[in-house]
Amino acid sequence: MDDNFAFLLPVVLSLFGVAFLVVARYGNRAALFWGGGYLCAALGFLAPLLLAVLPAPVVALAAEAVFVCAFLLYSQALICHFNAPRILALRCAIAVLGYAAIAVAVLGAGSLRYELFLSDITCGLLLVAAMVSIRFRLRAPVDKALFAASVYVVLETLVRTLVFFYMAGTPAIDDFVGSPYAYVMQITSTVGALLLALTALASVALRILDGHRKDAEEDPLTGLLNRRGFEQFIGEGGRTARNEAAIIVADIDWFKAINDHFGHAAGDEAIREVARLLRAVSWPGLAVARFGGEEFIAYLPNCRLPDAHMLANTVRIALAERDLSGIGIDRAITASFGVAVTAAGDHTIHDAISRADRLLYLAKSSGRNRVVSNAAEGVQPAAGPRLFVVRD
Ligand code: GH3
Ligand code: MG
Ligand code: MG
Repeated sequence: MDDNFAFLLPVVLSLFGVAFLVVARYGNRAALFWGGGYLCAALGFLAPLLLAVLPAPVVALAAEAVFVCAFLLYSQALICHFNAPRILALRCAIAVLGYAAIAVAVLGAGSLRYELFLSDITCGLLLVAAMVSIRFRLRAPVDKALFAASVYVVLETLVRTLVFFYMAGTPAIDDFVGSPYAYVMQITSTVGALLLALTALASVALRILDGHRKDAEEDPLTGLLNRRGFEQFIGEGGRTARNEAAIIVADIDWFKAINDHFGHAAGDEAIREVARLLRAVSWPGLAVARFGGEEFIAYLPNCRLPDAHMLANTVRIALAERDLSGIGIDRAITASFGVAVTAAGDHTIHDAISRADRLLYLAKSSGRNRVVSNAAEGVQPAAGPRLFVVRD
């Protein structure tokens, strides 16, 4: 039974190691470190079998070296996953000093008891260092689960090693290794390895999926939502137009001429500039998207027409007054805006978007660099449809 268990653990660790390396091929660096860590841990458990012909102290030193490497890699994986301070010098110092102490225990004292105690303390400290570094960066539930699994591994390692250290007594070490108590300890540490692997794998997989979702919903030039991301954001509430909301659409004026005159790269910078101004609009629940080349849309939930109109006009003025010489454009750039709000008869938010589009067209045809909005029927019935044109 014990032998089977001894084989099972390195096999399971290797499988996780390979799984992480496969995941790392999707561009996740943390998975590379997790994979390396799990393969090192598997090697550590296999060392007595692989190096059976070598003297026992050599086998012990080799196994301890890969165990310390494994925990150095786990700590690196955690730090990389959460993009936390690397504290590399501290972690290397723990690894080197810990390993030196282990070497003294193996070669000098010839004590398995001290060797295992020092090895567990070194590995636990490496994980603790990483956990201290990442502690304020846990957002998603799966990230918290990964942290909790790390806490379990550290506590289990420290409790186990202390119990082992104080229970074993120097002459009874062999008895302890074969005892049911040691067997239970082996199970608890295996549970720790599995918990850590499963939560890390889930966390890494979600991070990769999140990256793909972001790529699919984000405009790479401006970092704003793209059309798909916008649709996703406004979701059910927006689509059914249950809530009052305002839509602002904006289009840069004479942009083709800007491209022709100042070059495409400067044009791109101008698009980024407009995106920055729109993003800076202060409104709770605001969503801004780049809908096409130089066309933008903003969704302002629970926003009434006068407020939306005023915000659009603020952006218009800020853009017109912007000094763009820093991006190689030595003249003012302007944009035209159409503003509409949801109305009682609307089926979807797209009704309001269509109205805003028509008003933008009106802003263009009536001279550009202006905001045009009208009160949608049903929203302000007392005033009836009204047209606002703001220029200066
Ligand atoms: P109007 O005032 O009527 O809006 O005139 P306009 O020249 O802005 O309108 P038009 O739609 O004719 O031109 C849009 C231009 O935007 C054409 C296209 O080359 C340019 N464009 C589209 N996407 C990008 C982009 O990502 N970067 C840059 N630099 N230019 C782009
Ligand atoms: Mg344009
Ligand atoms: Mg356009």
